[in-house]
Amino acid sequence: MADRLSRERRSWNMSRIRNKNTGPERQVRSILHRLGCRFRLKSAGRLPGTPDVVLRRHQSVVLVHGCFWHRHTGCKEATTPKSNVDSWMDKFAKNVARDRRTNSALMRLGWRVIVVWECELAHPHRLRSRLARLLKKRPIA
Ligand SMILES: [Zn+2]
Repeated sequence: MADRLSRERRSWNMSRIRNKNTGPERQVRSILHRLGCRFRLKSAGRLPGTPDVVLRRHQSVVLVHGCFWHRHTGCKEATTPKSNVDSWMDKFAKNVARDRRTNSALMRLGWRVIVVWECELAHPHRLRSRLARLLKKRPIA
């Protein structure tokens, strides 16, 4: 059962990686849009880690991280599959190291990095307030 679930989760994640304009990234964009943030979709490619949203006016980038792949600390979504544990741990360690490198590269370039965890999308109002606070916007609906 655990393996079946992780397989499904894996293919779900892979489908998300193929199309960045669906699912969580899109939800985060729509929240930012409603906060009155303006951004273009094509400008991220030149930045480290290809951020999901680039908010030039705020000198900020938003990275939407899947809790499983990016190992959200303390999150119940950040499970470890029961088989091939070593190779999973290795993969996870590489992902976390890459995230760290990406963050520092972005910060060296003068960007503020805002990470949105996928589990936060279960509470869109809370996420909207957090983003509003960070970007000093009024959290109106
Ligand atoms: Zn999470």
